[in-house]
Amino acid sequence: MEEWIIDKIAEKNKRSKEEIMNEIKKRRGQFPDLTEDAILRMLATENGIVPIKRDYKVSEINQKISHINIIAKIKRKFPARKVTVKGREARVMNFVIEDETGEIPVVTWNENYIDKLMNVKDGEGISIANAYAKENSFNGVVELNIGSNAAISVNSKTDTPEIKKADYKKINEMVDGEVALINGFIMRIFMEDLYLIRCSICKKKVNDICDVHGDKALSKTMKIRGILDDGLQSSSITFFDRQASELLGLSDKSETNEKLNDISFSMYQVDVTAKMNKFNGNNSLTARKVALKSYDI
Ligand SMILES: [Zn+2]
Repeated sequence: MEEWIIDKIAEKNKRSKEEIMNEIKKRRGQFPDLTEDAILRMLATENGIVPIKRDYKVSEINQKISHINIIAKIKRKFPARKVTVKGREARVMNFVIEDETGEIPVVTWNENYIDKLMNVKDGEGISIANAYAKENSFNGVVELNIGSNAAISVNSKTDTPEIKKADYKKINEMVDGEVALINGFIMRIFMEDLYLIRCSICKKKVNDICDVHGDKALSKTMKIRGILDDGLQSSSITFFDRQASELLGLSDKSETNEKLNDISFSMYQVDVTAKMNKFNGNNSLTARKVALKSYDI
C-alpha cells in the first residue's frame, strides 16, 4: 500500500494513521473481493484525494506499490530472453533505470514494450506509467514490473516529432464544449445509481416510479460514472447507454457487478472520445466512444 495516501486521508480527516488502517480492515470485511490497495483508493477518492502520485523517485520504491509513475533514464539494458512458461514460449526483458536518487531493476514480459525497447540505447530517457513494484522471489530485490496495464514512452533522440500524440488532447487543455480523444486510465467507477430513470410524459427524473403517471412511461438509461486520469489531471466522466455497454465490454468478467468492480480497480488504460462540460470550475466529461488501449502512452 502507498503510505502517502494513508497519510493524506489521515490528515484530511484529522484522524490517526491507525484509525485509517482500521477503516481499511473494516471495508475489507464488507468488500472481500477487493485488495487493500483498491480499498485505499476507494477511501482516497471518497475524500477528494487523487490516489495517483505522478512523480515517483527511485528511492521511494522500496515496497510493494501497485501504481507507479516515474520518469528516469535507462542505465543498462539487457537483451530480451526467450523463456518457456507453462509450455509456452515467451520473451522477457530486464533493464535498470536510474534517477538522481538511485537505481532499480525493471522487468517486462509484454511483447509490445519489448519491441519498443529493442532500439533504445543506454542513457536515453523513459517515462513509465502505472507500473507495479514487487519483490523478485529469487533474490528478494524489489523490481519494477511493466505489465499490460502500464504504459511506457521512450524519449529516443531519433524520434520524429510526436505525430501520433498530437491526436490526443490533455484534459487540462480542453475547453467547455470541446470533443476530443483522450488517452488515460479509468481510475475508479462509482457503483451507485447505475440507471437514470425518467418519466417520458413529465420528462422528470424519478426514483422508481412517477408520482403522477406511475410506471406507464418510464424510460431507463444506463449511466456509469467514474474518474478518468490522463497522467496530468483527473476528471469525472459519465458513460451513458451505448458507451456504458462499450465500457462494460472492456472487462471479460460475466456479471455486470463483477465487470464494474474489475474496471473500477484494474486501472484499465483506455482511449476515450469525450465531450468536456465545465461548470463552476469543475470538469466533467461525457464519453462518446471508449476502447481499451494497452501498449502506449
Ligand atoms: Zn410522469
